[in-house]
Amino acid sequence: QRVGYAIVGLGHLTLDELLPAFGECKKSKIVALVSGSREKMQKVAKQYGIKEQSCYTYDQYDRLKDNPEVQAIYIVLPNGMHAEYTIRGAQAGKHILCEKPMANTSAECQAMIDACRKADRKLMVAYRIQYEPNNRMIRDMIQSKRFGATKFIEAFNVQNSANPQHWRHIKALAGGGALPDIGLYCLNTVRYLLGEEPNEVFGYQYSTPGDPRFKEVEEMVSWQMRFPSGVIANCGTNYGVHETRRYRAMAERGWMGLDPAFAYSGLQPQVSYAEGKVEHKEQPKISEKNQFASEIDHFSECVTQNKTPFTPGEEGLQDHKIMEAIYQSAREGRPVKLTAVNKKDAFR
Ligand code: NAD
Repeated sequence: QRVGYAIVGLGHLTLDELLPAFGECKKSKIVALVSGSREKMQKVAKQYGIKEQSCYTYDQYDRLKDNPEVQAIYIVLPNGMHAEYTIRGAQAGKHILCEKPMANTSAECQAMIDACRKADRKLMVAYRIQYEPNNRMIRDMIQSKRFGATKFIEAFNVQNSANPQHWRHIKALAGGGALPDIGLYCLNTVRYLLGEEPNEVFGYQYSTPGDPRFKEVEEMVSWQMRFPSGVIANCGTNYGVHETRRYRAMAERGWMGLDPAFAYSGLQPQVSYAEGKVEHKEQPKISEKNQFASEIDHFSECVTQNKTPFTPGEEGLQDHKIMEAIYQSAREGRPVKLTAVNKKDAFR
């Protein structure tokens, strides 16, 4: 019995990745579409065998409540629309899978969590990396101390963003610039790898003056996170340089990481360690799975088996609290402490 999804927003991610990924899902199927463009929707509906009466425009969104085939809604809209569509979706009685970043602010994240709780619906943030086997392998190496204790992590996710008109460069729709869009991968993945929450952050922020892409949102953020175990993570994100998407964790007797780490496919683990005087360098290869299919099927399992998702709303809320502290640190030019941060176990 597959869980039926309505996909909201037919942009790049949906068309290029999610619709094909549903073809690889074993527990999930698309049963409805929500889009601003009737024409595009009809084309997609025909291609994926979705009924015409299950195609909705944005102003018909609340009618999803009358469609019993739809059990879950996958929200793939600009970030600034996630909160509203999550809250309305939960009120329509549907479980919500929401793209990252969860929203524009931690206050919005909290409102989304509260609305889903009130409606007794599940809420998951689509952190695909946490469902990806290569990243899981590196996490297991770190947490089992395969090369001793990890002391230092570096993580970078940078790319050139070309179009200043795109919603990613409009603050109200994006929430911020490189940090919530791509820097978030470094932030979320480091927390995932360590299984710990940072207790202090320090950040720098910069945008090239006069660049039309960065009138409203930032070009780059560079930041450190300090963890209770003593690990320090050094992270960076930038919208104005050639693509790099990698991380490396440095431990007492070796290092391990991925390059690329955050791409949709072709992830490459890299490991180096010493045995006596012999230096080993390895590129372990494990089979890849479609990250989106793994993530979507996980949510379906949570719906059918009444389980808490591995990346629930609280996971997104935590990232937003940390991002807000990083921005605050950059503004004030001093480290910002994160107090009373929930350990992940608190919501797992
Ligand atoms: P996109 O611009 O390609 O698509 C956005 C869609 O929203 C478009 O179909 C657009 O028509 C629609 N839309 C509705 N109202 C809009 C408005 N007011 N302004 C602009 N567009 C509007 O974006 P995308 O790359 O598909 O990103 C969508 C979401 O998915 C974002 O939250 C993004 O962060 C997330 N995303 C996640 C991943 C991932 O790997 N998990 C990758 C890419 C994007």
